[in-house]
Amino acid sequence: MSEVLQPATNPRVYAVMGVMAAVHLGCFGVIYTGVSTPAVIVLVITYIVRGLGITAGYHRLLAHRSYKTGRVVQFLLALAGCFALEGGPLWWVSHHRSHHADTETDKDIHSPKTQGFWQAHMGWMMTNGAFEEKGANTRDLHRFPELKFLQRYYVWVVSSQVVGLYALGTALDAINPEWGTSGLQLVVWGFFVCTVLLWHATFMVNSVCHTWGSQAYDTGDASTNNFLVGFVAFGEGWHNNHHQFPLSARHGLLWWQVDFTWWLLRGMNVVGLVSDLKLPKEMRD
Ligand SMILES: [Zn+2]
Ligand SMILES: [Zn+2]
Repeated sequence: MSEVLQPATNPRVYAVMGVMAAVHLGCFGVIYTGVSTPAVIVLVITYIVRGLGITAGYHRLLAHRSYKTGRVVQFLLALAGCFALEGGPLWWVSHHRSHHADTETDKDIHSPKTQGFWQAHMGWMMTNGAFEEKGANTRDLHRFPELKFLQRYYVWVVSSQVVGLYALGTALDAINPEWGTSGLQLVVWGFFVCTVLLWHATFMVNSVCHTWGSQAYDTGDASTNNFLVGFVAFGEGWHNNHHQFPLSARHGLLWWQVDFTWWLLRGMNVVGLVSDLKLPKEMRD
């Protein structure tokens, strides 16, 4: 029986369903809270910080080790990734490494070719397979207790940002009521709206970037380069490039292939926060 049709036996599947539904519904809170300049600024900042936490932190650093950095920067990037509500770092990395190892096979839990578009986009997180024990492919990360801490206390980390956003909105309203913001308004825009936008930007890498776009390289799978996803997911939409060169810290390989994550990493490299940025062999000096 296909994974899709199997009844969920893991209670965490129902927890994910509940959280996904609640976060989407939470966006309707904008009807009650309205919008303000601080709310838009917070939305932009949280989208960028959480997005880069996923792309530069979870993906290019933890999953692929495509550059080197110190423990503090690694922790901060992983923390920003946690805030995106896409699972703890070890869980995320484990599934992503499985995707690269078994792309487009029955073992690839989010392949649109074998599982369908919806399943690849977000349905796979609501199946038993999403919570099968797969710690074996993240053993290299187990030597970092701070990452295990983030994984274990992930729910508390996510909750802390909600409290922080509420406190910030309340403080801004107290400082200047004319800004028209509130604690609840910043939670709605900085957490609910931001999470839904970033979720679908990230999920499109698995669904859209294995369905629509162009193939610069014959990678033997359905991975594509897609400009839209490249833009909203900070460079992750150059996914065919990434399947061809999974260890490369740079995914947008041509000048017009916008890759904000690569720009961030180049900047961090200049100021000495990261080093040894890996590139495809033909791009090295
Ligand atoms: Zn892929
Ligand atoms: Zn990858």
